[in-house]
Amino acid sequence: MPVLSLPASIEPFKWADRAAQVAGDVPLASFPRLCEGLADQAGTVQVDCRFERDAQRVPWLRGTLTTSVTLTCQRCLKPMALPVSVEVELALVHDEEDAERLSDDADYLVVSEQGLILAEILEDELLLAIPYIPSHESCELEYRNPEEPVGETRRENPFQVLAALKKPAADE
Ligand SMILES: [Zn+2]
Repeated sequence: MPVLSLPASIEPFKWADRAAQVAGDVPLASFPRLCEGLADQAGTVQVDCRFERDAQRVPWLRGTLTTSVTLTCQRCLKPMALPVSVEVELALVHDEEDAERLSDDADYLVVSEQGLILAEILEDELLLAIPYIPSHESCELEYRNPEEPVGETRRENPFQVLAALKKPAADE
């Protein structure tokens, strides 16, 4: 896909009227808040989104965002690659009153006629898909399974025992 710079500011309802599509590879560097949390800012996000109206004339922003980001594992502090794939499905409404006409499970955005910053919307969606405290799966298992301190007897917490029984075995 071509490298795409996202439009600075758009008119979301007009874009929905004309079923505008936004597709291409957007550099990660276009998303500064996302980049703050990344160990490596090189790379792109494959954006494939469209504005459209459904049969009830409700405008939507729909599509997918696909990328791989490099985070820092908060247990071993080494880099970890995380594939990210986000489905975007947001109804575009003028106000909360508009939103009440949507089905209960619909996500929506209150937007004005113009001035929508698409990069910020997409960035929010990406941020939601990234763990607040990232860690490798193997590091996570290690942390949940600390060695019993030597020379100390401790009553086991029944919930911890239960959790240990439920989780898959660590490295053999
Ligand atoms: Zn780790």
